[in-house]
Amino acid sequence: MSTEDNRDLKVIISHRDSSCDECHEALGRQAWIVLEGGRAFCLACADLDHLVFLPSGDAALTRRARKHSALAAVVLKWSRARKRYERQGLLVEEAGLARAEAECLSDAEARTRRSLPLAVPPLCQPVDPASQGESVSR
Ligand SMILES: [Zn+2]
Repeated sequence: MSTEDNRDLKVIISHRDSSCDECHEALGRQAWIVLEGGRAFCLACADLDHLVFLPSGDAALTRRARKHSALAAVVLKWSRARKRYERQGLLVEEAGLARAEAECLSDAEARTRRSLPLAVPPLCQPVDPASQGESVSR
């Protein structure tokens, strides 16, 4: 088990009406909150409101964005069906995400260049309906 995961900040997308225990603002349903010591904080009070959300799905981008962000938080949402929290993505610093995107982009360009000859489809044989008809024997 990695200790790194436990150090990660966690942001929960609430599934019920929530309010912030610090500024007492009503956050409504689906609020993004940080739970700490049994209390809930809004992103502003948790000092996370400057972060941008990166949905999961792109493993390379996520890994890089986390690497380039001094601050990152895992976003979790309660799944009623599965009765557990499911990872939605990552909150990262905008600059970190921009850097990660630039790196992934240059990677993708390098990949495209390398695979270009393979990406060209083989020449299509045009199908002549007349020649097909000839093969039908009566
Ligand atoms: Zn607050």
